[in-house]
Amino acid sequence: MRALVYHGARSLRVEDVPVPEVGAKDVLVRVLFCGVCGTDIHIYNGEGGAHSATPPLIMGHEFSGVVERVGAGVRSVAPGDLVTVDPNAMCGECYFCRNGMQHFCTNNIAYGVTRDGGFAEYAACRESAVYKYRQGTDPLLAAMTEPLSCCLHGIDLCHIRTGDEVLVIGGGPIGLMNLQLAKMGGASKVILSEPVEEKRALALELGADLAIDPIRSDVKALLAEHCKNVNVVIECVGSVRTIADAVDWAGMGATVMMFGLTGPDAELVVKPDVIFKKELKLTSSFINPYSFERAIAIIESGRVRVTETVSTVVGLEDAVRVFEDEGLRRTGKAVIKAT
Ligand SMILES: [Zn+2]
Ligand SMILES: [Zn+2]
Repeated sequence: MRALVYHGARSLRVEDVPVPEVGAKDVLVRVLFCGVCGTDIHIYNGEGGAHSATPPLIMGHEFSGVVERVGAGVRSVAPGDLVTVDPNAMCGECYFCRNGMQHFCTNNIAYGVTRDGGFAEYAACRESAVYKYRQGTDPLLAAMTEPLSCCLHGIDLCHIRTGDEVLVIGGGPIGLMNLQLAKMGGASKVILSEPVEEKRALALELGADLAIDPIRSDVKALLAEHCKNVNVVIECVGSVRTIADAVDWAGMGATVMMFGLTGPDAELVVKPDVIFKKELKLTSSFINPYSFERAIAIIESGRVRVTETVSTVVGLEDAVRVFEDEGLRRTGKAVIKAT
């Protein structure tokens, strides 16, 4: 089969590799669409993601496809089913799995990060990681399940109260999903800070009440004018500067969600006095525990628009371009069409 293989920092090639073996409890998926995540870019740049990646590796953890073949012990899916995969497969036996913190599993498998993933014609996964979609669902929508489930975990940890005012920093795919989930979760007002005009326009279309250009306007003054108190700030850029902005722009008693992934050695300078005087809660969100089924339910409901954030779809043979050319990812999400 054809696959996009990562050979180390800035080294990616589309090449022929064997179709993966399928064990008794495994499912072979013919991949349709696989999204390119910020994590993939971090790995490509040699920085690693939530888990460290060892080449050679087929990346890609946001994928949908059709079941091609199943192992003898598989019961929940059958050939022909439209499925998506939760790339984070837990052991169920370690301390964390047994204590309601499965995302800290010490034997975690992450398809596309620690094991081969979806930037290929076929991917083999454990049955327990495979989720079925209603027949007839757009497979491009199904490929957005993983990023939406990560956002859902973040939203869970923001503890939005009905009527809260929520600020999202960064209008990439993750920012725009969080924005819609915040609204769905009861926010009375959702505001986006984003320098790229196309992303601000899309945010307004997707339900933002206000979209601010942080380069050309005084964000603090605009927030004072439009909000009573910013209760939740969701930082979706992953730079120390925007995290500092989040602390600065947060209201009294606010939760600051550091959703964006920074480089592993980034260091944050914050004034404890500011945290103290505003009684801020600084928190973060690690992968996607207990949110995959809900992400599927939300996508099937159509209440959150996820494919609107896709700006580029390229075939597997052209996939390297997406990594080399930042311009292809400037206004939204890039997706690889594998077969
Ligand atoms: Zn991802
Ligand atoms: Zn475990």
